[in-house]
Amino acid sequence: MQALMFRGPMDLSWEEVDRPTIVDSRDALVRPLVVARCDLDPAIAIGLYPMKGPFVMGHEMVGEIIGLGTAVTGFKPGDKVIVPFQLSCNACDPCKRGYTNACSEVASGTAFGLGPHGGVDLGGALAECVRVPWADVMLIPLPDKVDPIAAAGIPDNVSDGYRCVAAPLRERPGSDVLVIGGLAPSVGLYAVMSAVALGARSVVYVDDDGGRLDLAASLGAEAIDAKGIWADLRLDRKFPVVVDANVLDAGRNLAFRSVEPCGTVTSVSGGASAMSSLPLQKMYNKGVRYEIGRVHAIATARPVLDLVVDGILDPARLVTSVVPFSEAATGMTAPGTKVIFVNDFA
Ligand SMILES: [Zn+2]
Ligand SMILES: [Zn+2]
Repeated sequence: MQALMFRGPMDLSWEEVDRPTIVDSRDALVRPLVVARCDLDPAIAIGLYPMKGPFVMGHEMVGEIIGLGTAVTGFKPGDKVIVPFQLSCNACDPCKRGYTNACSEVASGTAFGLGPHGGVDLGGALAECVRVPWADVMLIPLPDKVDPIAAAGIPDNVSDGYRCVAAPLRERPGSDVLVIGGLAPSVGLYAVMSAVALGARSVVYVDDDGGRLDLAASLGAEAIDAKGIWADLRLDRKFPVVVDANVLDAGRNLAFRSVEPCGTVTSVSGGASAMSSLPLQKMYNKGVRYEIGRVHAIATARPVLDLVVDGILDPARLVTSVVPFSEAATGMTAPGTKVIFVNDFA
């Protein structure tokens, strides 16, 4: 079958690879129909986030079941499903507590479309077929009324943006929220969208990209352009809930400057460098809670889907272009906040 293979920076093409087969009675074979470009994907494709190839890219997918192991009971061929990007058993202790990114049954980081990031290469969504282990617990049925293009980002980026604000707003309902955008472009805007949907009193969005600032404003945020003034920017108030989707030092520093005492800063990335410095003494004195870690994809995708079904959250509002699979190699690095790939293979 054909799959979009990443071999190294700027070396991405469709190649013939072995078609996956059922290897365990709990497996499903899924034909990806719509794949959303994760914010991490362009960084991998250009080498900004160093990853060793070869591996098949794509990990935010909605697909159709084309094969099932004999032990799968909850699905039938033809069912449309959302596939969370991390592999989780949903039965171990961490999974049962909702820490599905920390499933103790798989090597840390095991996910679709990220090859060696985890211990096992599961293949990627930009392919004619993907094998999904533990299908009964991994797969989420796509409701008829939900557009696959709107749902495609739920496996990762939509859920990632949601979790940045959902827990802090549960603790402090109706709070003011600050989102700092940048290198995780869609996650930051999904955080804006989620904060509005979850009843934040106000949402302020800081970035230096005109297109994203316009999108944030259209979602209901007060948009502030930080172009050229990152280091000097002082906001007129402090925030109990702050999201750092900028990922660079400038954004993180602004996050810590702008959080109110005993507030929460959530970072959606560890950055491209293994080492970064934090103002620990200032954070200690202010009592800042710093949340850093990957989204727990399966556990978060379900409440996010509920909001989408109810019309409270519309992830499709961030889609900037829809590209056929056959043009995904160039689409992977094309400009745009959220690029969607649609399967155009016969
Ligand atoms: Zn991702
Ligand atoms: Zn588990």
